Parts: sequence; C-alpha cells; structure tokens
Amino acid sequence: MQRILSGITPSSTKGLHLGNYLGAVKPHIEYQETHQCFYFVANNHSLNTVFNSDEVRKNTLNIFVEYLAFGIDPEKTTFFVEGDIPAIFYLQSILNNVVTISELKRMHAYKDKLQKDIEPDTISMGLFSYPVLMSADILIFEPDIVPVGEDQAQHVEICREIARTFNNRYGEILKIPELSIKKDTARVPGIYGDRKMSKSLGNDLPIFAPVEEVKKQVMSIKTDPSRIHPTDPGDPAKNLTFTYFELLGFDDQKLEEYKEAYRKGTISDVEIKKGFLTFFLEHFNEARERKRNLLKNTDKLHEIRETGAKKANGIAQKTLEKVKKAVGL
Ligand code: ATP
Ligand code: MG
Repeated sequence: MQRILSGITPSSTKGLHLGNYLGAVKPHIEYQETHQCFYFVANNHSLNTVFNSDEVRKNTLNIFVEYLAFGIDPEKTTFFVEGDIPAIFYLQSILNNVVTISELKRMHAYKDKLQKDIEPDTISMGLFSYPVLMSADILIFEPDIVPVGEDQAQHVEICREIARTFNNRYGEILKIPELSIKKDTARVPGIYGDRKMSKSLGNDLPIFAPVEEVKKQVMSIKTDPSRIHPTDPGDPAKNLTFTYFELLGFDDQKLEEYKEAYRKGTISDVEIKKGFLTFFLEHFNEARERKRNLLKNTDKLHEIRETGAKKANGIAQKTLEKVKKAVGL
C-alpha cells in the first residue's frame, strides 16, 4: 500500500467549509480505503499568524475534532498533531543546512507576504522557513505521495529538492515523495462568485456552524442579478446555489426540475436557497452530530490524540535516527 501524507493548518477559529471538505477532507476519507494515510493538524505552522495561546489550542482541537467527525478513522490512519512530534523540529534544524536563502526567497508564501508588507526584514523566520518545516513534516514520514492544491505545489517541489541535496551530500537516506496536484474541479467557488471559497475571505459555507450562521451564508449566495422579481425568468448558470447542489451530488432529476422552474420564473431565489439549506444540513447532519458527541468526551479525544502521536513518533524517530547518523550527530 502506498503511503500518503497531508496536513491542515488550524489558522482560524472558523471551522471547515464546503471547499475544505470537497477539496481536502473528502478525498482524504476516500484514500483511507486504498492507501496508508498520515494526516495531521499543523499547529506549529499556525504560529506564523496566530499569536494567542488559547486560540492556538482551540483551533487545533477544533480541526482535530472536525476531521474525526467527517470520518477520519484513527484505527486506519495515523492521525496526529504536528506539535506532538518533536522529531519533526529536529529534522527541520538539520534541513536548514541543505537549503539556501535564495531558494527560500523564491517561495510563494514569502513573496505574497512581501507584496503586502513594505519591509522584508520584518517578516518572521517562521514564515520565511515554513517550506523547510513543511519539508520536515513530509520527509520524516517517508510518504510515497503528497497530494496538494496548486498553491502548495511549489512547496512540495522544494521539499523534493531539499531531499535530493541531502542525499547527494550524505547518501540515499531520505525518500523523495511524488507530488500529486489536485484537479482544478476540486476548487469550490466562494458564495459571491468572484474568488475561491476561503475561510479568511468570509465567502464560505461553514459546515459545523450554528444553523443561523449557515442560513445567513446560504441566503447571501450570488444569484442571477438580472432577475428582479421571483416571476422573472432566470438563468440557472448565474445562480451559484445550483453549482453547490451539483457539487454535493443532489438528485439530477430534482435539480433539473428546479432549474426548469427557475428558467420559467415559477420559483423564487429564496425558495431555492431554502431547499439548498435543508439539503446541506441534511447532507452534513451526521458529521455535525458526530462533532457534538465527540466534544462531550474530551478524555476520549485526548486518548485519540495520544495514540496518534505515539504511532507517528515511532516512525518519525526511526527516520530521525537515520538522518542523525548520516550527518554525524
Ligand atoms: P485560508 O483562507 O486561511 O487560506 P482556506 O479556506 O483557503 O483558508 P486552507 O487551510 O488554506 O483553507 O486549506 C485547507 C485545505 O482545503 C487545502 O487542502 C486546500 O487545498 C483546501 N481548500 C481550501 N479552499 C478550497 C476551495 N475553495 N476549494 C477546494 N479546496 C479548497
Ligand atoms: Mg488557503
């Protein structure tokens, strides 16, 4: 079985949204049947942007629970929290010596930041060297494949480059992972239709939020702007609600009926959105319920976290020993 690895940064108090689910969590769940999976909550990465300790703890637990609620199975998968694996940071400090400043300066995360901030010297080392931490996250677990969105492809490329440089210097020690870029179809648009769905842009459909909050977002989904009265004929292609229905696999025939009524002007935007809200809540009802139940038993959650850390530490430690020996530590 091929080994696959993926991490998610708990960078916000907001929980996971439809884009995260379709683009990341759903394929992760499916891989559990066909691959040996390593998934983790990258809480150390979140220290780039979250400076409040309670918030870091809360966000980490929240994403951890939501992954479990969606069906990440800790029996099948090695599921852990990055900060629980000290070997990662040991490896990062070694890898710092096989990457140059100029290579890191070419990285997107750094360049994006430069465009916002005026003074390059004020950028933290954490952000600057985040591709090195990401490389350590990956290389320590020796995965065959790392699936990423296009925005992260460059960071996996530098990880491969770091591993190659290391191996040239010390022998064939590090396993060089293959990069698998997710197809563009997995990119879910935000509710205003102009950007991709993102928690930081406020254009998301949150999966675990209270019903009122979900409703507010659903009611703000972009619709055909030329339609003023519910009796005006509308173009379904200009109402994003239909896109979301499709992405979630709503019944084809019923959807066609909705579209037909929309074209004729016999159904209002509000009615369609109400229909979608009901469908959305039903679709995620089980996951929402599981999250509530998981949160009732924090002892059990800690146990899952500890067991995951133990499994991950065992593997990470072995890689680290090889690396330490190779470099002379
Ligand atoms: P932020 O606004 O903080 O960047 P985000 O909503 O973009 O947050 P990330 O934490 O950057 O979420 O990404 C987590 C995972 O979800 C990644 O695997 C990413 O590819 C995926 N993802 C995020 N947004 C979308 C989207 N709109 N469509 C498909 N996949 C997405
Ligand atoms: Mg993002």
